[in-house]
Amino acid sequence: MDNQESLKTPKEYMDALKALKPNIIKDRLLEKPCEDEDIQKGANVVALSYELARDPKYKDFMTVKSPLNGKIINRFNHIPLTKDDLRKKLKMIKTLASEVFCAQRCVGGDALHALHVGTYQVDKSNKFKTDYHQRFLKYLRYIQDNDIAPTAAVTDAKGDRSLPPHLQEEKHSNVFIEEETDKGIYVSGVKIPITMSLYTEEIIALPGLQYGEKDKDFAVAFAVPADAEGVERYVLGPDVTSLHGEYSPTHGLKYLNKEGMIIFNHVFVPKERVFLCGEYRFAATFANLFASLHRFSYTACKPAIYDIMTGTAMLISDYNGTKGEYFLSNTSEKIFEIYKTSIIVRGMAQAAVHSAKETESGAIFPDTIFANMGKYISSEYFHEAIRILQDMSGGLPPNLPYGELLKDEKYRPQMKKLLTRKKGIPIEDQYKLNEFIRVLVASNEGGLLQFGSKHGGGNKEAEKVAIYGNSLRNMSKCKKHVHKMVMNNK
Ligand SMILES: Cc1cc2nc3c(=O)[nH]c(=O)nc-3n(C[C@H](O)[C@H](O)[C@H](O)COP(=O)(O)OP(=O)(O)OC[C@H]3O[C@@H](n4cnc5c(N)ncnc54)[C@H](O)[C@@H]3O)c2cc1C
Repeated sequence: MDNQESLKTPKEYMDALKALKPNIIKDRLLEKPCEDEDIQKGANVVALSYELARDPKYKDFMTVKSPLNGKIINRFNHIPLTKDDLRKKLKMIKTLASEVFCAQRCVGGDALHALHVGTYQVDKSNKFKTDYHQRFLKYLRYIQDNDIAPTAAVTDAKGDRSLPPHLQEEKHSNVFIEEETDKGIYVSGVKIPITMSLYTEEIIALPGLQYGEKDKDFAVAFAVPADAEGVERYVLGPDVTSLHGEYSPTHGLKYLNKEGMIIFNHVFVPKERVFLCGEYRFAATFANLFASLHRFSYTACKPAIYDIMTGTAMLISDYNGTKGEYFLSNTSEKIFEIYKTSIIVRGMAQAAVHSAKETESGAIFPDTIFANMGKYISSEYFHEAIRILQDMSGGLPPNLPYGELLKDEKYRPQMKKLLTRKKGIPIEDQYKLNEFIRVLVASNEGGLLQFGSKHGGGNKEAEKVAIYGNSLRNMSKCKKHVHKMVMNNK
């Protein structure tokens, strides 16, 4: 990093991870977590965001001049101030997701953005007797100066969903303030599943739900180093593992989304890193700000996945000779059904930018209804796209023989019998495409992608509440309009 730029190299990012105290548990405590292949491949995803930010080809949208420190920084650490910032953020996420499926780093960027807006709102309601916003700006500067990629821990383990946190049998199901001193707070509890938590330097924790007065200890937002005393991180998804096959796609050979669980065991957070401390009325504000921003990010990454599924569907119909009409179905129509969602979600993203509004903190905020609707639509049609892809590719993807046989002279002729389809397509290419489809729609990695499409950024009900709540005034107007039409009263 130099005087003008605050941009780490991918190696500097990896070195920073290696310098952390070991606190990652897989089937045992990992003394050198960066040597674990799955964690390494997860870190490769984040490293790509560092790499592209330094590449002149991508700099225009991957970086921005920070109004805080005056340096060129990674856009993920910038608080969007203009509609152009939001547009470039969408471009950045889509570019990364086209390579790695889930860009992962947006989760921390969205938390920074939510804190910028939320801390100002709390201070204002406290008539500026609190200084959360100033604390946050100091923290943001630290993140920008050191080009850190933080994660955001919002979702608590929660326990029995029908009970509020203070009535849970296991109090630690939700993160809470255990003790408060002049110097700061001590926090405990569980956040899960937290994207990129296994390969981050910093954890930002936000409240995940709305809380009443009896749950005020759970209304807490803070940031700690990933290796702070008392933090434990657990590797999740034992079967979501690195791919090795020669015919495996890059995603899996080089990249992986390896999720983590964070347990806070009486972790000390100094005052300057506490951004909400018991103001329970603002717990929902923080959670909702984050959720809407994260759903906006989804309107960038999900079109990338729909585009990948569209391209896959087109290729497999080329390779299998299934283009055109077949009994009562038509390949083009099936492909259209996948691609249409990409168009709709991109449209929602553009609408969210078009109707974005400046907030009192100075940050711009994408339109809540369009951002939530974009995520809602992308989630609603995700399994439909997978269904079409499974239909179009036939039964081969999950039923491939072992790839090694293609190279074995004895068995290669047998493989040719199976894999020769459209004339001119080498059997290796046919195998690779079918393996790619297997990874995308019939593997543990693909399963994680499906869960992410449903629950990432909150579940469907939460999206509906955000859309409905913000649409009520307009919906009432609809009722009045119809009443006027029907009753014919001027
Ligand atoms: C791939 C992936 C990545 C993720 N990354 C992150 C991350 O980086 N950071 C983060 O903070 N979180 C992350 N999450 C978590 C995500 O935000 C949550 O999964 C999501 O909010 C849903 O919460 P949950 O898993 O606890 O499910 P639940 O809240 O238990 O929801 C499951 C179902 O139960 C219903 N339900 C919930 N409560 C009730 C009730 N009281 N009565 C009746 N029905 C109810 C819901 O509507 C839903 O249908 C990630 C999730 C996935 C899958």
